[in-house]
Amino acid sequence: MEMAEPAKLSAVVVVVGGGVAGAFVAKSLQSHAQVVLIEPKDYLEIPYGELRSKVEPLFAERTLIKHTDYLTDVRIINNRATGITGKEVLTEDGGSVTYDYLVIATGHVDSATRIRDERLEEFKQDNQKIESSRSILVIGGGPVGVELAAEIATDYLGKKVTLVHKGSRLLEFVGPKASKKALDWLVSKKVDVLLNETVEVTSLEASSGTYTISSGEKITADCHFVCVGKPIGSGWLSPSFLKESLDEKGRLQVDKNLRVRGSQIVFAAGDITDVPEIKQGYLAQAHAMVIAKNIKLLINGSAQSKLATYTANSSAPALVSLGRKGGVAQLPCFSVSGWFPAFIKSRDLFIGKVRKEIGLKA
Ligand SMILES: Cc1cc2nc3c(=O)[nH]c(=O)nc-3n(C[C@H](O)[C@H](O)[C@H](O)COP(=O)(O)OP(=O)(O)OC[C@H]3O[C@@H](n4cnc5c(N)ncnc54)[C@H](O)[C@@H]3O)c2cc1C
Repeated sequence: MEMAEPAKLSAVVVVVGGGVAGAFVAKSLQSHAQVVLIEPKDYLEIPYGELRSKVEPLFAERTLIKHTDYLTDVRIINNRATGITGKEVLTEDGGSVTYDYLVIATGHVDSATRIRDERLEEFKQDNQKIESSRSILVIGGGPVGVELAAEIATDYLGKKVTLVHKGSRLLEFVGPKASKKALDWLVSKKVDVLLNETVEVTSLEASSGTYTISSGEKITADCHFVCVGKPIGSGWLSPSFLKESLDEKGRLQVDKNLRVRGSQIVFAAGDITDVPEIKQGYLAQAHAMVIAKNIKLLINGSAQSKLATYTANSSAPALVSLGRKGGVAQLPCFSVSGWFPAFIKSRDLFIGKVRKEIGLKA
């Protein structure tokens, strides 16, 4: 029997968003299809390394990976996607790319600079800001604010760190016991943690060194870092045919095969999905693997019933680093702080692991 022309080279898979999820989908499919990555930045940033990079700028050399270093056979479009139709993705420069399969992986809106060298420079500047300040105000008590306050408290013992958080507890994405462990650790390092408070926007703009918080109290600090969560990156989809597939939080509803509800050819991976589990990069990688497998199956003509399924990991662990030797872990039945989470995450923040998994030297 005559062999059919292999379909792999003619199918076009467009991946929108080159964060952890999109990077792994594109990498896994690059030798099976014509892959196009649409992502404004020319690099993948592993977010877990962001805060260490502010106290140790050279650390960012390993956390910022040029897409061209691991996507050797992918067409990369350094632009933002602005819309989609049933056939095409539209980009901010007025261009469009036709797809056979589409993967949406625009977890969060990222305002970071688009060029890797400029991002490295930003980390140096942040570090200089920390170095030249005696007192530092950190705004936001989610993972970014807590990890930053902890990094500064660890590496700069003499500096006064104040953390202001609008919620009643730190790290609201993990359980109260893990929150309390993080709070106790920060307090033990002399970080002033103010809960149920916000910083007046006008004091941020004035940058006079005096900040007013919602209770009326004034805080003095030589500099500040705003560490509030980034919005979900689905705004560009709201005028499109996928509008109905967004839930009330702006997340894309997916089926068990990680296809956007109602579509046979549009998939979604990572933090943008409504999969009922904690939002973590290693889970985004697991989504990417299921999607890559399913797209390969579809390209090869498999029946829909043969597609791989993804089961939400509702008891997935989460680790928050507290400097280089501390950490707090939310495990399925309990939380733990100290050497164990530190041993697993805090020394290298999983950067070597992700780099190896994407095919680079740790
Ligand atoms: C401080 C901190 C520590 C963390 N620690 C861990 C950890 O230890 N382990 C772990 O597993 N997870 C950790 N996480 C969570 C992890 O970072 C996220 O779950 C993961 O980054 C999600 O990946 P993603 O690809 O879905 O989304 P994102 O990382 O948000 O990537 C989305 C990408 O889409 C791009 N994009 C957005 N809009 C558009 C558009 N319109 N067009 C084109 N591109 C677009 C963005 O530029 C970005 O590159 C941590 C997060 C933080 C903030």
